[in-house]
Amino acid sequence: MKDQSCIFCKIANGEIPSAKVYEDEQFSVILDMGPASKGHALILPKEHFKDVCDLDDAYAAKVLKLGAKIGSAMKKGLGATGFNLVQNNGQSAGQTVFHFHMHVIPRYDDQAPIVTWTPGSAEPEELQETAKQIRECL
Ligand code: AMP
Ligand code: ZN
Repeated sequence: MKDQSCIFCKIANGEIPSAKVYEDEQFSVILDMGPASKGHALILPKEHFKDVCDLDDAYAAKVLKLGAKIGSAMKKGLGATGFNLVQNNGQSAGQTVFHFHMHVIPRYDDQAPIVTWTPGSAEPEELQETAKQIRECL
């Protein structure tokens, strides 16, 4: 299903022009208009799924492999030495466009890592209790 009000549905299906890197029956891969680094791409399903929880199995089965393929091409074609696969779900996680997408962000040796956090701390008992809270909802 497409969503007529969704910009990524329109881009993925060619109704709005984009800098296209790759296309197949299920996905379009385009360059992000606000790149975190040269070559920053977005993997967009042609069908509308709002986030990873909504993603159909047939798409979920392929998206990581596609991320690896695009990232490998960035290493060959752009001289990247690594890449981040980033996928935000929900406003609190930084999702701003509510059509599933996976970022493929090439990384270069002269740049600092961008996906980082300051490690916190937790007692073993707290980790056990937290794990239980998640486990009980699986
Ligand atoms: P997220 O914050 O994970 O939802 O990422 C949304 C990304 O989409 C951002 O990196 C934006 O720069 C990018 N973006 C939004 N609109 C467009 C567009 N029309 N063409 C290309 N990239 C876009
Ligand atoms: Zn959409």
